[in-house]
Amino acid sequence: MKSINSINGIPLHYARLTNHPYGTIGEQRHFSIDDIFLKVLEDTFEEVFNHCPLGLPDAINTAGIFVAKSGQHAHGCAFDLDAIFWKEKSLVTLNFVHQKLLYLGIESILRKHFGIVLNHLYPHHADHWHMDMSVAVDYHESSKSATLYLQRVLTYIYGKSVIIDGISGPQTRGSMKEVFKRLNISEPITTKANYLKFLDLTAKIAFILSEDKITPLQLLANLEAVINTLPVVNKQEVSQAFNSFVDNHDTSKWINTIKDRHDLESLIDSVLTS
Ligand SMILES: [Zn+2]
Repeated sequence: MKSINSINGIPLHYARLTNHPYGTIGEQRHFSIDDIFLKVLEDTFEEVFNHCPLGLPDAINTAGIFVAKSGQHAHGCAFDLDAIFWKEKSLVTLNFVHQKLLYLGIESILRKHFGIVLNHLYPHHADHWHMDMSVAVDYHESSKSATLYLQRVLTYIYGKSVIIDGISGPQTRGSMKEVFKRLNISEPITTKANYLKFLDLTAKIAFILSEDKITPLQLLANLEAVINTLPVVNKQEVSQAFNSFVDNHDTSKWINTIKDRHDLESLIDSVLTS
């Protein structure tokens, strides 16, 4: 075990306190961590910040490494990543809906290094990524968290329409096959080398897309996603109001004039040839 208060020179912060609440940059702290696990974490963050267009951050916020919990945390072999703070920008994992592309770019790289990555839609993980090495890096159809990741990148990065429920079915598999073909990756996804290539290309594409200006269409999609998380009692009324806004003659005329982001096809071509 080692005690660290930074990783690769980036300060490690804690923000789950009354005076430093979740979502703020918090304060630098020491954390106990397993030596081998630390090495993997260092390689992971090196790759994340080499690729991430925002570069090196000012702080990495963690909810804990070695903590009195069961499982890998009890051995200092798990990391809970709450947020990352750059000078002008931050990624707070709870805000996934508003920063999907940056979030998914980072998660793609986390998955190259850790067999277990529990993400935003996984029960009890909306406000942090949990990662550990208790299983090897690979894609298993039965893994709910990995399938949630796959369905979200298919939807938000590759523009496929799949239901995001963490269950791999014909729709998810069909869209995955289309994307693999487009990216010139051999199948199956369950072969580690193919999966790693998919993660790598997806990270690059997500990061480029994350630099685009957010369009009103994406803002509307974000609003719709937030509405879908409302409790049933409130949801119907709010979605009716939302739909009548979108379907209104004048607003729909305006919406149809808005160009959506980047040309995905030429972006994929440029990533494949770079
Ligand atoms: Zn955890």
